[in-house]
Amino acid sequence: MTLIQRALLGPGPSNPYPEATAGLAAPLLGHLDPAFIRILDRTCAGLREVWGTDNALTLPLSGTGSIGMEAAFANTVRAGDTVVVAVNGLFGARMCEVAARYGAQVVRVDHPWGEPVDVERVLAAHPAPAIVAAVHAETSTGVRSDIAALGAALRARSSDTLLLADCVTSLGGSEMALDAWGVDIAYAGTQKCLGVAPGLAPFSFSERAWQRRVEVPPVWYLDLGLLGAYVRGGPGGRAYHHTAPVAMVASLDAALTRITSEGLPLVAERHRAAGLRLQEGLTDLGLELFAAEGHRLPQLTTVRVPADADSAKVRERLLAEYGIEIGAGAGEYASTVWRIGLMGDNARLDRAELVLAALARVLG
Ligand code: PLP
Repeated sequence: MTLIQRALLGPGPSNPYPEATAGLAAPLLGHLDPAFIRILDRTCAGLREVWGTDNALTLPLSGTGSIGMEAAFANTVRAGDTVVVAVNGLFGARMCEVAARYGAQVVRVDHPWGEPVDVERVLAAHPAPAIVAAVHAETSTGVRSDIAALGAALRARSSDTLLLADCVTSLGGSEMALDAWGVDIAYAGTQKCLGVAPGLAPFSFSERAWQRRVEVPPVWYLDLGLLGAYVRGGPGGRAYHHTAPVAMVASLDAALTRITSEGLPLVAERHRAAGLRLQEGLTDLGLELFAAEGHRLPQLTTVRVPADADSAKVRERLLAEYGIEIGAGAGEYASTVWRIGLMGDNARLDRAELVLAALARVLG
């Protein structure tokens, strides 16, 4: 078997932490083995720590980030519920589509791509929606939105509205405080700043959300009541629901242990420093950053393709000649923007210098 090594510096997956790779290769355990249950419990505790939450129902769902989005709406939307979705990129738009499939009356609040979510506009969209949903780190544009401000504004209105945050590109890279921010429902993916292969969707559900959940969601596989009986256990122990992807959970456990032992502020600082260096270096190369200043994600940088360069050809040369993967833009920016990720184990200055040097050569 030929092993191909790449520097995965696109919007994800990123190169896993070595600890996560070692976790994946550990001897397989049964999904009801007490030794595995200990790993699962530690994983859920690690997710609570990186997310800044005490939510009992915090667990890794089987599937990629999108399964988290699906579970969020499947367990909370009743036909006819009003769901306000802040859309400032591709993943906000996807939330509208998913919510509508569960019968939501979606009120879509569109923003220009490259700009953060405007809290006032989102609040003004409806006086008392069942759910307000927003993307914390929009991977399609490289923009961070202020979820804390959104949560504070919703609480100030003393509404019953649940706040749902997509944290796919923020968890493990940005410091987070779900409980302090007033977030009720959150999901993420393992393949970005958590530094694990794609395959799990960390998920967290508050007590408030639990009280308001759909008791029999239309998707059996994502029924949080049934999943909770396995993850949290009950009087009869852990009830089988589906076979947990044990190797992936062991890998996530190893990555979370790595992240929490490094220290969450230091991990966030590592992402900040690497992203800043990349963004400075791109500007020094004469390139123009896409995301609005002051709202740029360090872990995912968007940069405009220069007028005299062919976006696809440059990406092809980076891959073929330097083994570096960067991403194309999303949506209408597919050929005019590049997306460069420095996430998880790649959030390092040497990775920033690597991609800057290769890009300088290719752009010649
Ligand atoms: N939300 C955001 C912000 C994302 O970046 C992604 C994937 O890139 C998703 C949702 C969907 O996750 P996945 O592709 O892992 O299903």
